[in-house]
Amino acid sequence: MKNYDHILKKLKEKGIRPSYIRVRIYSYLEESRIHPTVDEIYEFLSKEILTLSKTTVYNTLKLFTEKGLAQQLNIEGNELRYEAIRGFHGHFKCEKCNSIYDMKISQLEFEDDISEFVINEEQVLVTGVCPKCN
Ligand SMILES: [Zn+2]
Ligand SMILES: [Zn+2]
Repeated sequence: MKNYDHILKKLKEKGIRPSYIRVRIYSYLEESRIHPTVDEIYEFLSKEILTLSKTTVYNTLKLFTEKGLAQQLNIEGNELRYEAIRGFHGHFKCEKCNSIYDMKISQLEFEDDISEFVINEEQVLVTGVCPKCN
């Protein structure tokens, strides 16, 4: 049995009742690191949680996003991808295999004056061909 203590703590801190399904969805987001879509999360977890529905996955992700535990990625495509919040980083999307890689990046530096802009979110997306496909 895996230890989910840190996840239980995180959910409780945000006022989320840590049901088993919520804990497993969060743990998958944190571990898989593939920036999964709702469908991918459902495919993976429905094998062990037979009562799981896509609506539950969707609603759970919405809750996590509202509470600042997860974020949606603005990556072009039909399906939204999600990840657990883990500090600022950029993304590299492979045009061949569609994999999304995390890329460490220190900070965005603006050369224009942005003092009058309110920034809510910063996302960096780089596209190209990954080492596996190249
Ligand atoms: Zn690739
Ligand atoms: Zn990421």
